[in-house]
Amino acid sequence: MTEVSDPIQVRGRPGKRGVPTTLYDLSLTELTDLLQRDGQPAYRARQIYQGAYQHQVESYDQMTTLPAPLRAHLATSIPFDALTLEQVYEADDGETLKMLYRTPDDQLIETVLMFYEDRVTVCVSCQVGCAVGCSFCATGIGGLQRNLTAGEMTAQVVDAARRAKTRDRKLSNLVMMGMGEPFHNYAETLKFIRIINDQHGMGFGARRITISTSGIIPGINKLAEEPMQVNLAVSLHAPNDALRSTLVPINHRFPVKDLMRACDQYIAKTGRRISFEYALMKGINSDDDTARELALLLRGRLCHVNIIPFNPVDMLPFERPAEADIDRFAQILSDGGIPVSVRYSRGLEIAAACGQLRARHLEAANT
Ligand code: SAH
Ligand code: SF4
Repeated sequence: MTEVSDPIQVRGRPGKRGVPTTLYDLSLTELTDLLQRDGQPAYRARQIYQGAYQHQVESYDQMTTLPAPLRAHLATSIPFDALTLEQVYEADDGETLKMLYRTPDDQLIETVLMFYEDRVTVCVSCQVGCAVGCSFCATGIGGLQRNLTAGEMTAQVVDAARRAKTRDRKLSNLVMMGMGEPFHNYAETLKFIRIINDQHGMGFGARRITISTSGIIPGINKLAEEPMQVNLAVSLHAPNDALRSTLVPINHRFPVKDLMRACDQYIAKTGRRISFEYALMKGINSDDDTARELALLLRGRLCHVNIIPFNPVDMLPFERPAEADIDRFAQILSDGGIPVSVRYSRGLEIAAACGQLRARHLEAANT
């Protein structure tokens, strides 16, 4: 029987503001190092990774390939998970699930899981709140509380994968389109992606992962240098500075021209297409002239436009355009030679706009 010496100490980055470093925070190399310091062979770390990410067990106890003393020891030395499920909401006849989780420091975060015929997509949060403060977004309303750790992001994906499994489906796609700005939490977001991408664990394909940014240029430049083939989506929402600055305040710092230059460099460097997100709001950015201006701006670029008809947010004055107007906007882009799709958000009746569920929950708790 394997003897376990001193408790395994998680070294390196300490838990942030009372958030412990959990198993889901550790790369396979970090886990291997930790175990080896305690005299454990490297294959133990791979077994733990298999249990956590391929079998998606819910505790060390269920890792039956490990000796019992090691399981007991792990349970007292490396917390397994940091998120507690607060509530699950269902919409679209059960095809959309929205999970609300509580973190150890009592923050609430949201994850959305969407079942389609050909894919199962999870929408992951990377921050509690967001510092960018887009005028139409529920997440930005209260500012930024804190960054999530890689482990808190990984936990969202593992839980989503388990839920897909219970329906005999496989989680296939991941979008960083939940709460927060991924490039304001670059290191933990990329660490998280490397953890779920690891072949010894979940082996989640980088090409099935999309990072969405409000247009943080240094982040775009950095991502272009990453060896992983993740997809990039840029939340544009307007073709010129005057309009974009009113919607996405970070545009003052990273204006449209500079943003387009960074996108061009990204495309040249990676050879990959960029998706431009465009939240369509009635009377704000939805008229024909704006559509034509957008087509002109994007013409000749390796890109695609995703129109997201605005999701109503409590207390915000914006509205979704009529369906005919949404179609016309898309048609003008298409006629201008820009590949376009309209992405109706799932789960309208469960406050689909990210950050809304948390906002409502906090409000209810305060009344
Ligand atoms: N912070 C990142 C990723 C999270 S938001 C970003 O801004 O890209 C994911 C997408 O949803 C963004 O394109 C964002 O602008 C959009 N979005 C936010 N609130 C919305 C709403 N109420 N209706 C439609 N789209 C919204
Ligand atoms: Fe932040 Fe994105 Fe919301 Fe803007 S749209 S406030 S960047 S989460």
